[in-house]
Amino acid sequence: MIDAKKIRKDFPILDQIVNDEPLVYLDNAATTQKPTAVLDTIRYYYEHDNANVHRGVHTLAERATHDYEASREKLRKFINASSTKEVLFTRGTTTGLNWVAKYAEQILKEGEEIVISIMEHHSNIIPWQQAAAKTGAVLKFVYLDENQELDMQGLKEAITDKTKFVSITHASNVLGVLNPVKEIAEIAHEHGAIMVVDGAQSTPHMKIDVQDLNCDFFTLSGHKMVGPTGIGVLYGKEKYLNDMNPIEFGGEMIDFVYEQSATWKELPWKFEAGTPNIAGAIGLGAAVDYLEELGMDEIHAYETELVNYVMPKLKEIEGLVIYGPDDISKRSGVISFNLDNLHPHDVATAMDMEGVAVRAGHHCAQPLIEYLDVPATARASFYFYNTKEDCDKLVDALIKTKEFFNGTL
Ligand code: PMP
Repeated sequence: MIDAKKIRKDFPILDQIVNDEPLVYLDNAATTQKPTAVLDTIRYYYEHDNANVHRGVHTLAERATHDYEASREKLRKFINASSTKEVLFTRGTTTGLNWVAKYAEQILKEGEEIVISIMEHHSNIIPWQQAAAKTGAVLKFVYLDENQELDMQGLKEAITDKTKFVSITHASNVLGVLNPVKEIAEIAHEHGAIMVVDGAQSTPHMKIDVQDLNCDFFTLSGHKMVGPTGIGVLYGKEKYLNDMNPIEFGGEMIDFVYEQSATWKELPWKFEAGTPNIAGAIGLGAAVDYLEELGMDEIHAYETELVNYVMPKLKEIEGLVIYGPDDISKRSGVISFNLDNLHPHDVATAMDMEGVAVRAGHHCAQPLIEYLDVPATARASFYFYNTKEDCDKLVDALIKTKEFFNGTL
């Protein structure tokens, strides 16, 4: 059982006053706060073990290398990859998706197809646009059904024998909908396509098993799962990573360098050119330890409980439009909304005056915002350290915001 009140003691940042009100942090889809265990691990690394990895034979270099690689093993276990060869450290999801799209540029032929959805984050759209433009491949979109879920019928029609890549988000950062990526992987594979999953918004909130999902690539961002910024993972099946050219070249990723050519290290180091984000990787390992201690299934169940609690209260607010499916079992802890005809930036600013941190804007999903035919949305997003009191504060702040703009406050 998650005891959020107890857990909050691990997150000193949450205990502060903003605009004369206790902070209610509901912008977890943008980034999450870090527990002291993660902060202490990073500090300890710099105070005791800081050295470059894979190079030195001295004690500090050995310790740094050991901890860096131990962290890779933690990440492997966390997502259930079959080998650490399949776990590449990246800067985050954006880097991971760019790397996969580079692979697409390597193998796509003119007229072949890439299938993505309208609810993708820009980082799962633009790299594919680039790959399509460079290779003459066709970028196809799948849209939403009447419940604002992914249109599975449309998806089945969009994927053909010409499809080489299908890249879909596991959880939408705007609609809050969870997509059936395991089923989509099956459909992709029936047509011989490579299945890519953007796991930025799912990995922090539920148990991930890349072998069970049977995806070919999977990306995650450390900062969205109580880890540091600037570190993430790209999982890829070994057979694809072996076929894939390195994206960056330089130190650390080579075996031998001659005047006119070079050979690469084996996986996963072939992809990790230059001095990596060692402290970030070790910090991410500590984040994984922290999450596993709480339990991913418990985290998911607790967040569902929060959404179950807050949704009926939100629905009572007249003029509040909530995006995404009604069926809470298909939702994560992301709730996007618009209030009356107020601009979401005004709503978010007014809520900040109440100490409630929500995000407003296009959430790096402009094609979706255009499709929904709204200027932008406001978004509240929960994590396991949020409480039912935070939910009440969200509802109160929305009611006050409405009254304020209606001139009744
Ligand atoms: N995909 C989704 C669904 C996201 O929500 C985000 C972050 N907002 C990203 C990709 C990009 O992640 P990052 O900025 O950590 O690279």
